[in-house]
Amino acid sequence: MQHFASDNYSGVCPAAWSAMQTANSGHESSYGNDHWTQQVSDQLRELFEMPCDVFFVFNGTAANSLAVSALCRSYHSVICHELAHIETDECGAPEFFSNGSKILTASGENGKLNPTSIEKVVTRRRDLHFPKPKVISLTQSTEVGTVYTRDELLEIRNIADKYDLRIHMDGARFANAIATLKVAPKTVTWQCGVDVLCFGGTKNGLAVGEAVVFFNRKLAQDFEYQVKQAGQLASKMRFLSAPWLGLLKDEVWLKNAGHANRMAKLLESEFSAIPGVSPMFPVQSNAVFAELPQTVIKALWARGWMFYTFIGQGGCRFMCSWDTSEERVLALAADLRELMAQYTAESV
Ligand SMILES: *Cc1c(COP(=O)(O)O)cnc(C)c1O
Repeated sequence: MQHFASDNYSGVCPAAWSAMQTANSGHESSYGNDHWTQQVSDQLRELFEMPCDVFFVFNGTAANSLAVSALCRSYHSVICHELAHIETDECGAPEFFSNGSKILTASGENGKLNPTSIEKVVTRRRDLHFPKPKVISLTQSTEVGTVYTRDELLEIRNIADKYDLRIHMDGARFANAIATLKVAPKTVTWQCGVDVLCFGGTKNGLAVGEAVVFFNRKLAQDFEYQVKQAGQLASKMRFLSAPWLGLLKDEVWLKNAGHANRMAKLLESEFSAIPGVSPMFPVQSNAVFAELPQTVIKALWARGWMFYTFIGQGGCRFMCSWDTSEERVLALAADLRELMAQYTAESV
């Protein structure tokens, strides 16, 4: 049964599964010295049209935490949106792996940082008693399902340049952002000053494994040691890397993300037609947020629908995935329509 709690509720997409199967023959060098890992890394360099350094780790928390730690020293600080995953959902791992770098949160509409909110945090304290701002962390697409445009990223880059800040991008749903923006990945990453991108594979259709892509190769210098020390170096690396070949071939990663985005759009239009229900944020990727009455939430849960209510600014979050079916979207909307009608009738 398909659910809307998270895009990590879905399974492995066929292309990734078959790439994994193909890699499962014979013996191979371990710890990333295999030809599958080499091949995927080369393909990612082609995708980003730049000779970047690529590493694979098990999950997004590790990818973000280690990437952030590579961009700053322990006395630095990292600026992110108040709803950012590194702030709200990583159990302090970014601070832990960077030996205490402080996360400073900034506000911003629709889950996005903007030059004004960043500058406010950077200029609040400039003395040595306060951790020195060094990193801006952006989530693309954001925790509330919105997407930074190239222009917005370029404005943020200007601020980064002005204050000598580095840029980390949490791309757990980078694919969904690219599927929406329909641009070459380079135009919204290194061309906008992104030093390192955590390119999410799991929510796009892998079993496990995120790519950490360093566009600023100087910063990747000792990264392999950080990965190893953190317990994130897979010895049978081919099984983390090879499935990426399945995603990259024939742009499956974009098809998967595009499908999830389309299902979210469908859900949005269905929801919008229900009296009393309206999306809380512009639907620009694979998430739809809506504020619903408590009794309706409980009734949806009682009917077996699974979704979260604690993410972002609250409200109910409905996530679509690479395999979300139109039938399930329509069935959810039909149940919600019925329950909202009951609720409205009871509350008059
Ligand atoms: C899912 C997600 C991650 C990764 O989380 P893990 O559970 O550690 O893999 C990172 N950032 C965002 C915005 C996410 O939604």
